[in-house]
Amino acid sequence: MAIVGGGLGGLMCAQALAKANPQLKVIVYERSSAPSAESRPQGWHLGIQSMGINALRTVDIPRMDDLLCASVSSAFTICDHDANVLLRIGGPLKAEVREDREARFTGKMSACIVNRQDLHELLSQGVHIEYEKRFTKYEEEDDKVKLFFEDGSSAEADFLVGADGARSRMRGQLLPQITYGPVGVVNMGVVIENVPPLDDLPMLGPMLAYSMVRLLSNSGYSMLLGLAKTLEGKHQLLYVLTGPKDMFPDELQPDKATTAPVNDSSMTERLIAWAIETVSKHFHPEVAKITALVKSENLIFGGLLPSQSSSGLEKGNPFMQVKHKRVTLLGDAAHAMTTHRGMGANTSLADAVDLSQCLASPNWAQELPKYEAIMYKRGWKNVKGSLDNTLRMHKKNAESFSSRLSMRAAGVIMTLLGYSWS
Ligand SMILES: Cc1cc2nc3c(=O)[nH]c(=O)nc-3n(C[C@H](O)[C@H](O)[C@H](O)COP(=O)(O)OP(=O)(O)OC[C@H]3O[C@@H](n4cnc5c(N)ncnc54)[C@H](O)[C@@H]3O)c2cc1C
Repeated sequence: MAIVGGGLGGLMCAQALAKANPQLKVIVYERSSAPSAESRPQGWHLGIQSMGINALRTVDIPRMDDLLCASVSSAFTICDHDANVLLRIGGPLKAEVREDREARFTGKMSACIVNRQDLHELLSQGVHIEYEKRFTKYEEEDDKVKLFFEDGSSAEADFLVGADGARSRMRGQLLPQITYGPVGVVNMGVVIENVPPLDDLPMLGPMLAYSMVRLLSNSGYSMLLGLAKTLEGKHQLLYVLTGPKDMFPDELQPDKATTAPVNDSSMTERLIAWAIETVSKHFHPEVAKITALVKSENLIFGGLLPSQSSSGLEKGNPFMQVKHKRVTLLGDAAHAMTTHRGMGANTSLADAVDLSQCLASPNWAQELPKYEAIMYKRGWKNVKGSLDNTLRMHKKNAESFSSRLSMRAAGVIMTLLGYSWS
């Protein structure tokens, strides 16, 4: 069994296949180099919800529960620009739930925020990964599939899984009708290591103690804030300022930057100075106070990152339209989405578990279309929902008012249905 891409979905698939059938030989081919202590990048954070938690807990990965429990956040709160709550999903963990892991993971609303690099490291444990293997193409035959790599080497497998992310080469060959591109919104992401004491933030601090918080300005910007704890116990504050592309300075746009801004200190300094001024105009003063802590080395995307989404999935299940038997896709390779629903990693993990169950079955050839139908339906639903959120959260002026009004109404319904508590 070959998997192209050693990201979250590819590694999860390898773990779940090993559990489903320990006799299977599974190799993950990853284009990047093997991680080392020196190369460990500063990771961003992922919100893992019930879908991802359930997937991760189908296999016994050492320390996974510790990582999920290290999470500070158990809720998601949407506020207006002045930090007044519009909508909350979940709430502070009750004391008895905090002490009881099963209750923590199976409660009505379960959500964790984890360090991406920690999650990646735990998922890599025990997996056979061949690094520096950049996949270029495959050739499918009746009884096997052949993979080719940029270094001129090749490999053979009974089945090939494409888990090579949003710009998947596998998708380019199997389903070229699915494309991936910008949606007109850009993000400035930061991981702040010198987290301010929550007592210094009387409005935001009590919320950040248990929840990720997204603030929506009147003008089209949004700000995501979330406290996280790494497996080493280090606190970090995730900060992402997002808005319509035309509301960020033209010369700082990703397509305008000739060198990566992270290597260009004047560019990163200009971006930070612009953010300090902009945030103080559009958000509560406590958000401005946090922005004043941002340093060049804390920027996680090297500058501005465009939000991107898949196109072509709206025309129905594309897997039904192409002849294939020994190859398929999972996660972002099949259905990459914007981050504004926090579901990309969650769906990728769920795909990986479903696919491993299909491939471990003696009737895998009959099971494959069923996996693809479930994966497509879940993926397309979340691609669409994520894009709707991206557009709704970054509406300007009068439209932003009506969008916040509908969120407040949804917040009341959530509370009445017991999905929100304080
Ligand atoms: C800033 C940000 C925040 C996010 N927050 C959340 C969140 O809160 N919740 C959530 O659920 N999701 C979130 N996501 C989305 C999430 O990161 C992705 O959906 C998820 O990583 C997809 O997993 P994957 O395994 O499908 O792809 P990836 O994690 O992208 O892995 C693909 C792997 O394939 C490798 N690869 C690519 N091409 C080749 C090749 N040709 N040959 C060999 N290897 C190759 C890559 O190096 C990589 O290791 C966020 C994304 C971003 C950018």
